[in-house]
Amino acid sequence: MIVFDLECRAGGHRFEGWFASSEDFAGQQARGLVTCPVCGAPEVDKALSAPRLTRKGNQLPAAPSAPRPDVPQPVANGPLPPEAVAMLKAVAAVQSEMLKSST
Ligand SMILES: [Zn+2]
Repeated sequence: MIVFDLECRAGGHRFEGWFASSEDFAGQQARGLVTCPVCGAPEVDKALSAPRLTRKGNQLPAAPSAPRPDVPQPVANGPLPPEAVAMLKAVAAVQSEMLKSST
């Protein structure tokens, strides 16, 4: 669908007209099917403004380019969580035990 800003020649009334295409408007205009909703005059011209393409209602907006929140962010120089500290201590303890028994 396409929306045209239309203007009636007789009274200068501005209104919007919805058409399948620019050719559809031209065809309806040529057959006198486009009339002013205010005064009913069939002499209607496109007003001087760019046509706007309409978006289908079920169309989703373009995906935002913002970073996804579920992507893990690398933690640099941050304090380690307690469980990580405990795990590292356990690993260190195991390593030291292994070092003791290694020759
Ligand atoms: Zn009019």
